Amino acid sequence: MPFKFDVYERSAYREPAPIDRDSPFQSMMERFDVAAEILELSPGFYEYLCRPARMHVTSIPVEMDSGRVKVFEGYRVIHNDVLGPSKGGIRFAPDVTLNEVKALAGWMTWKCSLVDLPFGGAKGGVVCDPNEMSPGELERLTRRYTADLFDVFGPNKDIPAPDMNTNEQIMAWVLDTYSMHARKTENAVVTGKPVGLGGSEGRRQATGRGVMTVTLAALERVGLAPSECTVAVQGFGNVGATAAALLAEQGCSVVAVSDVTGGYYNENGLNLSEMRAHAERTGGTLEGYEAAQPLTNEDLLTLDVDVLVPAAKEDQIDRSVAEDVTARIIAEGANGPTHPAADAVLQNKGVLVVPDILANAGGVTASYFEWVQNRQGFFWTEEEVNRRLDRMMETAFDKVYATAEEYDVSLRIAAYVVGVRRVAEALRMRGIYA
Ligand code: NAD
Repeated sequence: MPFKFDVYERSAYREPAPIDRDSPFQSMMERFDVAAEILELSPGFYEYLCRPARMHVTSIPVEMDSGRVKVFEGYRVIHNDVLGPSKGGIRFAPDVTLNEVKALAGWMTWKCSLVDLPFGGAKGGVVCDPNEMSPGELERLTRRYTADLFDVFGPNKDIPAPDMNTNEQIMAWVLDTYSMHARKTENAVVTGKPVGLGGSEGRRQATGRGVMTVTLAALERVGLAPSECTVAVQGFGNVGATAAALLAEQGCSVVAVSDVTGGYYNENGLNLSEMRAHAERTGGTLEGYEAAQPLTNEDLLTLDVDVLVPAAKEDQIDRSVAEDVTARIIAEGANGPTHPAADAVLQNKGVLVVPDILANAGGVTASYFEWVQNRQGFFWTEEEVNRRLDRMMETAFDKVYATAEEYDVSLRIAAYVVGVRRVAEALRMRGIYA
């Protein structure tokens, strides 16, 4: 029987979707548009996949330690759940916006699809400054946000995880609050939780490990051995510090890292374990680390290295930075670190950019393993997690690389083609309930 909808029904007519096209959602949509064009998505499918499925905005009252009630704004965007329950982190930041959360949710859709996970994409955010809040205030904020979104979350519906400024403790509070309302313990409702509550071995390092895996695959493609290459990493948090340490373990010389306090350089390779210990002592930053030369973040991005790993935040590599980039490979640990205007510059210079939705997919892949283990009630060793993770990341890299060759496009566009195609095919089989 023929399908009711043809995903690839070609039409010159495409109704412009009335969506907010401000950055960073625009960054995501610009790349999506190119993939949609290559896939020749029909106008109906295009319009459907352009928009988030559901957006929740909530006002979260929190009793502060002073006794005053303060109201915070929170978001949860379900971008798409055609492939399965939606999946995505929760970000706490003073400058988080609904537009940013929409973009991050969209990236989750294409990322989960690209790595072949049975998940859709979502993201959450709360406008707050966690550095200015006590643990008690953060706990009350997290619990009320979770209670407000109780009907949205669920192990078969929407599964949150950590993102910027949220961690295992915050996921433990999400788990507990959800479970109290559900009247039973539901550890599969959240991933990135402590191992003692059903978290997975290897989850904490998984995003950085995935960055390492795709960087090694990219090095092989350009014919460079790890032992002969230098690396600079922007961001020394969960993703950046882990990727730096694992790349150094593979024989690369990590000559520069940076965090919000600035950059640190040693042409002979940095002592990363000493730097991690320093960051632990100072409560998370490298401020005051003196055994390396200081460097600005911009200098780091344009340093003469073979591999650049932006692992801090969005829009760090704009057109003018791209013009000065000398790295052969960029492995995007962060989400959206390269502005769309920089893509063409990098491509013309022959820089191999391993895009965010591929390079940092290790985190959500390990989150998927965690969810599977919770549902099975059977836990894997760290070796088992790493073995499966490496295999899935290598497969995804090869698939994207082959697609880039097939269509003669960048790895970024190829990653979108792979991600969008699987969602569109699933949508074609399910049909649009219109
Ligand atoms: P994190 O909070 O642990 O670390 C962020 C790091 O970036 C910190 O060292 C911070 O000081 C640094 N930083 C912030 N602003 C900076 C600036 N202007 N210049 C240089 N450094 C700066 O966060 P994380 O979990 O490592 O996430 C980093 C990025 O990776 C984010 O874009 C996040 O969305 C993405 N990501 C994270 C995961 C994960 O599993 N943690 C998964 C996928 C994607």
